[in-house]
Amino acid sequence: MPRPPHVAPEKWTDWVWQMQERVRTAEDLAGFVRPHADEVRAIEALAERFRFVITPYYASLMDPDDPECPIRRQVVPRSAELGDPHGVADPLDEVAHSPVKNVIRVYRDRIAFCVNNECALYCRFCLRKRMVGDEDWIMKKRELEAALDWIRATPEIRDVLLTGGDPLVFSDDRLEWLLASLREIPHVEIVRLGTRLPVTLPFRVTDALCRVLERFHPIWVNTHFNHPKELTREAAEACDRLARAGVPVGNQSVLLRGINDDEATMKALCEGLVRMRVRPYYCYQAQLLEGTEHFRVPIERGIELFRRLRGRTSGFAIPLYVLDTPYGKVPLAHPHVRGREGDFVVVESFDGRLWRECNPNG
Ligand code: SF4
Repeated sequence: MPRPPHVAPEKWTDWVWQMQERVRTAEDLAGFVRPHADEVRAIEALAERFRFVITPYYASLMDPDDPECPIRRQVVPRSAELGDPHGVADPLDEVAHSPVKNVIRVYRDRIAFCVNNECALYCRFCLRKRMVGDEDWIMKKRELEAALDWIRATPEIRDVLLTGGDPLVFSDDRLEWLLASLREIPHVEIVRLGTRLPVTLPFRVTDALCRVLERFHPIWVNTHFNHPKELTREAAEACDRLARAGVPVGNQSVLLRGINDDEATMKALCEGLVRMRVRPYYCYQAQLLEGTEHFRVPIERGIELFRRLRGRTSGFAIPLYVLDTPYGKVPLAHPHVRGREGDFVVVESFDGRLWRECNPNG
């Protein structure tokens, strides 16, 4: 479904209008799709547990007739979210890794700085369900300042990932203040922004925003496309504006059952990203997170999927498949190194042939 005819183009492309006019109820959703009875039931049943909000732009990408549409399944509640006996609220134990409110530190030299609890929409598989969209978590400027003080006092921190929520939900002025504050800290070498807005609200990536970002290089952006249907002209233009501002853009997807867990879909996603100059960086194994059992794929199947991509598309189009754990990210990969035989190491090629490579000892 393209832009609804009653919405003027200048409104549709205005990111503030998109935020104000977000889909919040089953009735709003019916303006874009024919809601399934299970979706309507789940919207009501989950109202108190995890917010349901979608930008009109992202809603316009949904298949109106198919509740299994890969766009729809990412953001519209389903009753399967209610019957997950295994999932937990904080599978990475992020609360225990927080030296100061809003900061998560797993590695010595880098942190995730949760600057915002708001997103343009709420993904049903979100790792930070426990805090995003929750008004008790709204971050006040003085809390951000307390986290900045902690970074100033911690000289090992070289790399700061701004995340949330979504840091691009901030106004340009607030983002400029935050970036300027970080840039004044001599040991902060790079700033990364983790944002799904190029996917869910590409009109947020305005020329004015890019001018702000350019002033604080080196800035990197990691975004989050999960399916080729998200690779629209608008999203490509947003990524192009970032690239022209000198911002390298990477993609971190999540392996989601029935959405992108087959080879053809993942290949189309990765190749489409590369055409947009977005580097597929990580693909995460979905976490053992409450209400998400219906999204999880067995790790063995994920390993096989990425093994089958190897040799069948450009190497840099294949993301690293990883499991995030409380101890850091663990690569999940088929073991191509099969072992040593005397002075040789035996490796397996992408199509299963073995090669013996002479290998120095010691
Ligand atoms: S955009 Fe990211 S932080 Fe926000 S709900 Fe989706 S996965 Fe969670």
